[in-house]
Amino acid sequence: MIQPENKKHYAIIGAGVAGLTAAYRLLQQGCQVTIFERSPFVGGQLATTTVGGAPIEHYYHHTFTSDEDMLQLCAELGITDKILWLPTTMGYFSQNKLYPFGTPKSILTFKPLNMVAKAAFVISTLWITFLMKPEYAEKNTVKDWFVRHGFGRVWDIIWKPLFQLKFAADADKISLIWLWGKLHTRGTSRSGSKEVLAYMKGSFGALAVALSAKIDALGGDVRLGTSLQKIEKQGDSFVITTDKGECVVDAVISTQAANQILASYDWSSEMRTYLEGLTYKSAICVMVVSDRAWFDRYWINIGDDSLPFGGIVEHTNFMSPAEYGGKHVMYLSRYLDDDDPFFALSDQAIVDAFSDALSRVLPIFDRTKVQDIRVFRQKNAQPVVPQGYIPPTMTTEVPGFYWISTHHTYPFDRGINYAIRLANRLVSDLSKV
Ligand SMILES: Cc1cc2nc3c(=O)[nH]c(=O)nc-3n(C[C@H](O)[C@H](O)[C@H](O)COP(=O)(O)OP(=O)(O)OC[C@H]3O[C@@H](n4cnc5c(N)ncnc54)[C@H](O)[C@@H]3O)c2cc1C
Repeated sequence: MIQPENKKHYAIIGAGVAGLTAAYRLLQQGCQVTIFERSPFVGGQLATTTVGGAPIEHYYHHTFTSDEDMLQLCAELGITDKILWLPTTMGYFSQNKLYPFGTPKSILTFKPLNMVAKAAFVISTLWITFLMKPEYAEKNTVKDWFVRHGFGRVWDIIWKPLFQLKFAADADKISLIWLWGKLHTRGTSRSGSKEVLAYMKGSFGALAVALSAKIDALGGDVRLGTSLQKIEKQGDSFVITTDKGECVVDAVISTQAANQILASYDWSSEMRTYLEGLTYKSAICVMVVSDRAWFDRYWINIGDDSLPFGGIVEHTNFMSPAEYGGKHVMYLSRYLDDDDPFFALSDQAIVDAFSDALSRVLPIFDRTKVQDIRVFRQKNAQPVVPQGYIPPTMTTEVPGFYWISTHHTYPFDRGINYAIRLANRLVSDLSKV
């Protein structure tokens, strides 16, 4: 428990799942909390829209059986009954053909890899998932490790196109620890040869809403539509300046992206240099709403970097379309640099490019059968983890100023579970002071 003399007034910057969880935990310990969120809603990257009257995320989301921090929090919030465990199916588009993927049988029928390369794919996947030590993984780039161990064809056909679509020009620099984290989480979310993932009835936005309700009930002050401008230290206090006025607090927890926290405070030149080195890719997700299904599987990786998107996620092949009044929802997703001209294209230009390319994957795709297409853009969506990466700490150079973000989830990739874990750990650490 936080000692009575440490029951401070905390400012939390950001009402994403990390900020909301931190606020909930601090309030449980008797602290005072004020959250500043520039959006008019809670949830951050769990933002939702509606289809057929039901909420659904702007960006595809699912969680894993191993996501214990999330499951524990849902149990505490009394929303475990909203979690649905659903079987999933995968596909892989390579060399102009869509193949089933992700099961032992599908690997055998995957033509772009010959028998030797198929064996290499299986061995390398099992090696990374179950045998590799994280300390070893972080010393290698994904590309170098595959090539050096004779898995070059697996890199070329399977991973290279995916890394290019996820990390653009940084694809060759990504640390093997990133893939280790991904495969490790995914490999432990299986039941036999079948993958099972979780979705939340009413969307993962319901988690943010449930947290927000608890924060209200515990007397937290959530200021939506309030944009932080700067934070200054004055004696033992912090002055929080927003577009709606000032607030003085004892301590700060920021959940902003590195480039945002950089602009929030007058950091030392060493800290500025470090923050400038933490980079992200932005995401574009195009949501396609139709009266019919287009594919027979949930998740399709695109192993072809001539296509403008890297993933097709047909959400209603996972969650039933009945949830959305019978409508079918498919996301087309792409990651890219903020300054990539594609990110700044008009919604119409993005829809045109994605629709044309979709016809290459699915020749029967007919845009006239689509009822609605929505374009969502997220900056700072995917932290870049190059080899040699030094993850940030939750404490900063300024006593009383704490930071948790998607860059802190290392060695795991960003995700709801890890945002919750970070917030839990931070408040637990604060209670030991
Ligand atoms: C395309 C996509 C797909 C994803 N899929 C999955 C998935 O399948 N499974 C999974 O577990 N995770 C997934 N994630 C990741 C997951 O959504 C995030 O890891 C998680 O939501 C991050 O929460 P957070 O609170 O750390 O950050 P955020 O949600 O980014 O919250 C930070 C908040 O800070 C606010 N803020 C920033 N600057 C200011 C300011 N100056 N003033 C006030 N407020 C400010 C922002 O508005 C934001 O609300 C996905 C993310 C994306 C983009």
